Amino acid sequence: MKILILGGTKEAAELAARLIDEGHDVTTSLAGRTREPKPVEGKVRIGGFGGATGLSEFLIDNQIAKLIDATHPFAKQISVNARKAATRANVELQVKTRAPWQMQPGDRWIEVGSLEEARDTIPANARVLLALGSQYTDLFKTRDDVFFLVRRVDPPENKLPLPNHSLVIGTPSRDWREEAEILRSNNISHIVCRNSGGTGAYAKIEAARELNLPVIMIMRTSQLLA
Ligand code: NAP
Repeated sequence: MKILILGGTKEAAELAARLIDEGHDVTTSLAGRTREPKPVEGKVRIGGFGGATGLSEFLIDNQIAKLIDATHPFAKQISVNARKAATRANVELQVKTRAPWQMQPGDRWIEVGSLEEARDTIPANARVLLALGSQYTDLFKTRDDVFFLVRRVDPPENKLPLPNHSLVIGTPSRDWREEAEILRSNNISHIVCRNSGGTGAYAKIEAARELNLPVIMIMRTSQLLA
């Protein structure tokens, strides 16, 4: 079967490998946000499609039989586009979204519903690990009383707009001890992150539990309504 996976996640790459093993003709689509994306088996295309219309044209032109949305749970626009495009092109759509993390004994989560609420919840003069995508940094620039430790996969091209910050470059460790060391050595008092789910970014949550640190956790809309 000719399958298009909307990817950008570890789960999408694993799925591509599995479907190829099963004999399918798989293309994975990446948005192109990281300079050196991790290798993905099968064909890879990079960059936006030009909205739902562009995506539906791609599905038709490439005779895709199945579209799988395996994007990050907070990548909302592409998921909306996938639904519209699949309907327009009359292609089967499968949505594979990671389950969110659940609070465990010892976790000190402050659950919030938006990035703005997260920003306003940070106590005065806190030292925060800001574990969010680069497109969300601007929002925190008004908090000039707060020190931000900002994690980026790639070094940023421009200076970040945050008045008081430092950078940690690279993908998060899977080992909570390494994450705890980063938190400890930077004297971090709070983490701000989203409830992404999955294993790739979970070690910081375990580290916060071990160090008894509060996590300002931006929840998914569906969880807030539940
Ligand atoms: P978004 O806001 O939903 O998407 C914005 C635009 O980027 C889309 O309209 C689309 O452009 C393009 N796009 C997004 N994902 C694409 C894909 N897989 N292939 C081709 N084009 C794509 O998404 P985002 O939050 O910027 O995330 C971008 C990508 O990074 C996603 O694929 C996601 O899986 C991955 N990712 C996101 C996060 C996160 O925190 N949001 C974390 C880890 C990985 P057009 O309208 O031009 O088609």
